[in-house]
Amino acid sequence: MSLNKKEPQPFWKIKSLVEMSAKEWESLCDGCGKCCLEKLEDELSGEISYTAVACNLLDLETCRCARYEQRHQYMDDCIQLDTKNISELKWMPSTCAYRLLAEGKDLPAWHPLVTKNKNSAIEAGITIKDRAVTAKDAKDLEKYIVDWPE
Ligand code: SF4
Repeated sequence: MSLNKKEPQPFWKIKSLVEMSAKEWESLCDGCGKCCLEKLEDELSGEISYTAVACNLLDLETCRCARYEQRHQYMDDCIQLDTKNISELKWMPSTCAYRLLAEGKDLPAWHPLVTKNKNSAIEAGITIKDRAVTAKDAKDLEKYIVDWPE
């Protein structure tokens, strides 16, 4: 007699964002680096435009923050993403795992937690790799406005 053993469900399918451990929460970040791009807000409409200019702390090769643990010491305006503000930050990219789960959606097939390959977001071409410059090399942000991320 063969028993059909069911695979356990991954944590993001059975836990809400508030139920996740700090380690689980951190592992949701796919490392796209898109939220670390400078943004411009239209004074009249309030509309947010992304630029292809990355925060000086972002490593353009790995698309990860080079000073992640100390980032708030270096960057006053770096937002600490949490379960309370994720639904309010409408400019977060539509591919962001935190946004997807907060909207009741699943992780995409290319997400590193799904593929078990830490480079799969880069390999899928959804990161800022080869598409961004670092802030210290960009003078006029308006010249770098892009129509991605969505
Ligand atoms: S947009 Fe989301 S998934 Fe991408 S780097 Fe930022 S927090 Fe991580």
